[in-house]
Amino acid sequence: MHNEIEKILISEEEIQSKCKELGAQLTEEYEGRFPLAIGVLKGAMPFMGDLLKRVETHLEMDFMDVSSYDGGMRSTGEVKIVKDLDTSVEGRDLIIVEDIIDSGLTLSYLVDLFKYRKAKSIKIVTLLDKPEGRTSHIKADTVGFEVPDEFVVGYGLDYNEKYRNLPYIGILKPEVYGG
Ligand code: 5GP
Ligand code: MG
Ligand code: MG
Repeated sequence: MHNEIEKILISEEEIQSKCKELGAQLTEEYEGRFPLAIGVLKGAMPFMGDLLKRVETHLEMDFMDVSSYDGGMRSTGEVKIVKDLDTSVEGRDLIIVEDIIDSGLTLSYLVDLFKYRKAKSIKIVTLLDKPEGRTSHIKADTVGFEVPDEFVVGYGLDYNEKYRNLPYIGILKPEVYGG
């Protein structure tokens, strides 16, 4: 699997130390508030785990599965709910945990939905941000790393459902897409 990677953009060590740093920030901000952390499946799964184990105050976790991508590399521009939350967001302080913001379509859909459902506050924490891909006005409150406008895989991010289990973020060799 590793020999299909052309270049590592963000190493395992860099990711882990970022999780520690962001976890400490969240601890300070949410002390005593019992926020609801919402992981956007499947991509946010590794980040959600590593980030939230660094938060040293009580929180609740839930997951939502939405899709705007059809397995490949391009957004369909359409967001659909594959799995909704089990928890009510009404009156809650939400922390949305995402793997990457590209067009921003997925997040702008979720933010509108949670506002409509009367969340008290909404914070967006994303591991990666691809500002050049943005077609909606959405902005993350907290960004781990900015990445260039290239298709990245690893640490939750897939290509045709593969590479989510890599411990780092990288770029695939062109021949992997080719065939
Ligand atoms: P957006 O709605 O912001 O365009 O994209 C959101 C989703 O598209 C992300 O959560 C992720 O699943 C997928 N995506 C966007 N850019 C990339 C990328 O560079 N690599 C991979 N593997 N997925 C991406
Ligand atoms: Mg995602
Ligand atoms: Mg995907």
